Amino acid sequence: MRGSVKLFNIFGISINIHVTFLLLLVFFLSGGIKWLALIIGVFCFVTLHEVCHSLMARYYGIEVRQITLLPIGGIASMSSMPEKPVQEFFISIVGPLFNIAVIVIFYNPMKSLLGTEVLFHRPLSTATWPLTLSYLYWINLMLAAFNLIPAFPMDGGRVLRSLLAGRIGYVKATKFAVGLGHIFAVGFAYFGIVNVNIVLIAIAIFIYMAASNERHQVDVREDLSKFKIGE
Ligand SMILES: [Zn+2]
Repeated sequence: MRGSVKLFNIFGISINIHVTFLLLLVFFLSGGIKWLALIIGVFCFVTLHEVCHSLMARYYGIEVRQITLLPIGGIASMSSMPEKPVQEFFISIVGPLFNIAVIVIFYNPMKSLLGTEVLFHRPLSTATWPLTLSYLYWINLMLAAFNLIPAFPMDGGRVLRSLLAGRIGYVKATKFAVGLGHIFAVGFAYFGIVNVNIVLIAIAIFIYMAASNERHQVDVREDLSKFKIGE
């Protein structure tokens, strides 16, 4: 992706960071060292989430050459789209499952390390290091919940398409999940405008455009399928 910088390799996959993510780091650095630590922690969890998608894709013979991290999340660039709905289902679900696994596996260790009061302190804050660690832990729950929204471009949208594709066909299933993506985007935009939250409005615009893009890709595929190879 244009405007991204390579950081390192993991399982032969190049981990790239988009310049807008670096801007985010600078922005949060102004919020103090604990904010910066939190963002770097989130960066690690988002990377591992994408690595889970990538390894599952590789299991099905789809090569993933790079993962690009944007402020909004990561994108794993796959060499091809999964052909069977069951493949898309498992490739999509492992990402959120990873974050849920972190919540489950680290629940007891975090409780004994931080204590119930710090772990369940609300609102989440970066006032102290233990609270920052607790914040980072709960971000996994947010990542899982956000990604399981059953609409494009979230993982949940792909899970939904894979579940519907067998019943109503790939194209109709895509249109349905794209439509839901647009509805969620309008909802996010509404709350963003009402609460004067620019981040929420930016997320809404991103979701809307990414959902439309998914629709476009399927349209292209549908058009191409009408032609034979020689043509
Ligand atoms: Zn994901």
